[in-house]
Amino acid sequence: MSKFWSETAKRTKPYVPGEQSNEPNILKLNTNENPYPPSPHVIEAIKEELERKLNLYPSPTVDQLREAIAGNLQLSSENVFVGNGSDEVLAFAFMAFFEPNKKIRFPAISYSFYPVYANLFGIPYEEVQLNRDFTLPADAFFQSEGGVIFPNPNAPTSVYLQLDAIKEIVENNPNQVVIVDEAYIDFASESAVTLINSYENLLVVQTMSKSRSLAGLRIGYAMGHPELIQALVRIKDSFNSYTLDRLAIAGGTAAVKDTAYFQQTTEKIVQTRDWVIENMKKRGFYVLDSQANFIFASHYNEPAEDLYVELKNSGVLVRHFSKALIDNYLRITIGTDENMQHFFKKLDEIIDSKK
Ligand code: PMP
Repeated sequence: MSKFWSETAKRTKPYVPGEQSNEPNILKLNTNENPYPPSPHVIEAIKEELERKLNLYPSPTVDQLREAIAGNLQLSSENVFVGNGSDEVLAFAFMAFFEPNKKIRFPAISYSFYPVYANLFGIPYEEVQLNRDFTLPADAFFQSEGGVIFPNPNAPTSVYLQLDAIKEIVENNPNQVVIVDEAYIDFASESAVTLINSYENLLVVQTMSKSRSLAGLRIGYAMGHPELIQALVRIKDSFNSYTLDRLAIAGGTAAVKDTAYFQQTTEKIVQTRDWVIENMKKRGFYVLDSQANFIFASHYNEPAEDLYVELKNSGVLVRHFSKALIDNYLRITIGTDENMQHFFKKLDEIIDSKK
């Protein structure tokens, strides 16, 4: 720490992302990426854009992509804001809707970027304890002082909160914004997006990093009442008016339009997930009820941290969090069937070697 650092730089505790490995032989099941490539139309659209207009600035309003997203969800483009990944959209939302003197609430076990942003922007917060079964206690989010944010399904637990509970949270925070971070919603039953025309204080954030296989392109988006969207635009234009680059706009638009490919790959991941859960249970794991493209599992006698290390030594990366209540769980991303067969082969070797 240097004497030149601002108070903001001093108090900030940066987010630590999951390990990224360039080793060709590593099986990466640790950062919830999609194992399938993006739609072939994405590659075509990016190639076309590459050959044409990289010397020109992209559209500052990103109309083409916003219209495509809105069209898919029966919304108007005035309901849609796009940014460089949902992490950036969430940062703008913290700045646009949360105040430095009013406590916001988020779950104690949740996406670890929320406390990072709160610290960065000087927003005080209260962490809401989950129920013993890792479900979210909706009423603990009622009447917050400064607003609410939670992922649905929750991360890293994979547990889904029903829309009725979300409605109650939104209705019981009439003067605050409730942000539902739906990074994994396409692997779950139902999105809260259907509620945004009924509630002016609900912001739903989604990403193309998971179900659209575009983590590398960095596209996230928020949906809500046009007045919420306008606040995000004001914040964005004060940082970087050309948030998305031309390749992201072209690729993202093509991905949104290829519904058939999207449905096929998400359905396949859900099928593989259910098969993986069954097989984890057969091996003595307790597995939370997942509605995401990952599972959260704890073995009845093998400590999670040991399994994490041994899996890593055998070329399989999964995620372990050294945090109270979840330190005996592993978060495992759902890959292809072949990926998961390889995972079980390595896991069995580890467990068998201890018998
Ligand atoms: N929200 C949650 C709950 C996540 O797990 C992630 C992925 N790490 C994100 C947001 C951010 O995703 P991205 O920035 O790739 O859109």
